[in-house]
This record gives sequence, structure tokens and C-alpha cells, in this order.
Amino acid sequence: MDIEKKLQILSEASQYDLSCACGTKQDDRRKRTPEGVWLYPASLPGGGTSIMLKTLMSNVCTNDCRYCPFRGGLDPRRVTLSPEEVARCFMGYVRRKKIVGLFLSSGVIGTPDNTMARMAAVGDILRRKYRYRGYLHMKIIPGASRAAIDHILSLSSAVSLNVEVPTAAAMKQLSDKKDFQRDIVEPIRRISELTSRGERFARVRQSTQFIVGAADESDAQIVRAAYGLYKRLKISRVYYSAYQRGLGESELPGESSAPISPGDALTREHRLYQTDWLVRKYGFEDSEIPFEPGGNLSLESDPKEVWARRHPEFFPLDVNRADKFELLRVPGLGHVSVNRIIKLRANGGRVSRLSHIGKVGKRLAKAKRYLKL
Ligand code: SF4
Repeated sequence: MDIEKKLQILSEASQYDLSCACGTKQDDRRKRTPEGVWLYPASLPGGGTSIMLKTLMSNVCTNDCRYCPFRGGLDPRRVTLSPEEVARCFMGYVRRKKIVGLFLSSGVIGTPDNTMARMAAVGDILRRKYRYRGYLHMKIIPGASRAAIDHILSLSSAVSLNVEVPTAAAMKQLSDKKDFQRDIVEPIRRISELTSRGERFARVRQSTQFIVGAADESDAQIVRAAYGLYKRLKISRVYYSAYQRGLGESELPGESSAPISPGDALTREHRLYQTDWLVRKYGFEDSEIPFEPGGNLSLESDPKEVWARRHPEFFPLDVNRADKFELLRVPGLGHVSVNRIIKLRANGGRVSRLSHIGKVGKRLAKAKRYLKL
């Protein structure tokens, strides 16, 4: 099989990993090259966007993740690229100015450290032989050793190790081989220590991803774990990916304990992103996130609106007195409108009409119900 054909298969196979901030569900956003390789628009951790080649190095895997179509014991078409092949192909695209970044992941080829060594070899070739200075996002393979992690960090702009689930019990439902604490939590902690020391690796961003709905975890468990990852382990971004029924074994625990439609599974993913935003951008604590009695987020309303409905004592909020983070709790107000209010007040003005905040539409009409003008 020629390299382009292998790359076509492996770039298609990488679509289930969202940790590089490139959406995969909106097929209109990713583009296929004439050779059949997928290129993705992606948000960079430091701001801005890029077009990335996103690929696995190999879809061979000795692990047994029950939600994954590439787990060992199955018989998909298995292909592997050598480090030189990955580097050469990638530089071909860079030279043709088609892309400005690489997201490289892989199934587990033998052992985690063997896989990491092959991925590090790609980084070494790119950085040393081709003098490539651009964006390089590398996956950390669960169970990788400290030495392997250190080596990958020395080559990368960003790394990610997918946490997948919030607890060791949920991990046990999905894999007999992966040990949650040893293979996932400890490596994430190691990366966090190295990147937050402000020395050699301070520039490297770390992200991770939950797969939602394969195990029987609740949203409350996911939110609590994500909060800990942000606050204690200084993860730059957490991504959420709804488990797509049919990719893994039939009847995974999440499907049998609380089955939901594919549409609701995507809504659940969306609610987790909205909650993530409340925590990262609006100053909510995890203990303030409103869950339904079963521990999941409402599928009907966005979490900020649910919080507002459950806290009538907080409203109506005096738009001319409330501080920034109080205003950000108003459904319908976001950073743009709140900054406009703060700026107007700082210049001696007062908000006496909705139109002072912005164009009056659905969102501001919703906000009006919670504001004292
Ligand atoms: S480690 Fe798990 S998720 Fe990754 S390729 Fe192997 S089986 Fe799939």
C-alpha cells in the first residue's frame, strides 16, 4: 500500500479524537485533499486558528477499549506509517502551504513506550532534519513512562492524554487493560507538574477528552472531574465527545443503563460544553452547576438558564450596580454585552434601555427578564 493510501486510512481513523480543538461532526469544516487526506481547521491553544493534518501513526492497537473500533481482537484494515513516512508526508503539505500544524496520535503498537518512541522519532525528524518550527500536537499514550513523556514534551507545542471517564470504576467498565490511576491520572499529573514549573516545558499546553455515554457515568461526575483537571492539574482545555453507538461493542454499560437517542447524546455533549464554559469563563464553581435528580444536566435548557431559574433570590439584577461576574450569570448576556455595560458605566454612562447593551433580539429579550434597568 502506498503512503498516501495509508495516510488516507489513518487520517480518517483519527476523527474520533477531538483534543486538538478541531470539530469532526461538522463535515463541512474539514476538507479532503485530492489524495483523500483530511485536513482540519483547529483553534490553537495560544489563540488563533490553523489548518492541521490530523492522523494516527498506526491503527494497530494492543489495548481493549470497548468503545473503540480499533481495539485489539477486531479485524479492521490495519496500517502503520514509519516515522520517516509521517514526517515526509507532513512536510510535503507544509511546503505546498496547505497546512501549518500536525496532530499525531496512534494506537498502541506493542507497548506504550514503543509507541511513544515512534512518535518521538517523528518529532525528532521534523524538528532536527526538516527544521520545522511550527505547531506539533502529540498524543500521550496511556501508561507511558516518565522518560517517554519528557521526551515528547521536549518536541511538542501541545500534548493530550484522553482521560475518557471520570472514575476508576467507569474505566473498569470499558477496559480490562487500562489502569485509571497508573496509566491516565499519573501521566496527566506528571505533564502538569512539568508544564507548570515555568521552565523548559512551560510553553506546552495540555488538553484532554471525555468520551460521554459509553460507561454509565453521570454528568455530575464528569463535571467534578473536569473541574479538578482545570483547577488542580492546570489542564488548558477539556473536550467532550458523545459516544457514537455502533463504534464499540454492542450494549456498553452507558447504553444499557440509561439509553438515549443519538440526538440526545449530542445534546448531552453540548450541555457539557456549555457547563465547561460556565466554569472556565463565567466563574461558576462545580458545586453551583445545576443537575437533575439523576445527576445529569437538563437536556431541555442550558445550564445557565437552569441555574437562574433555581436562584430567584439573585434576580432582578441592577444592571448599573452589578459587577462583571454577577452580570455574566444573566441568561442572554455574554462577555461582549457585559463588557459593553462595564465600559459604558466606566465612562460615566448609565444603562437605561436594552439597546444600550446591544442589538435587541431574542438573547437580550431573555436577559431583560432578569435585569433591573
Ligand atoms: S488505546 Fe484504546 S482508544 Fe486508543 S486506539 Fe487503542 S483501543 Fe482505541
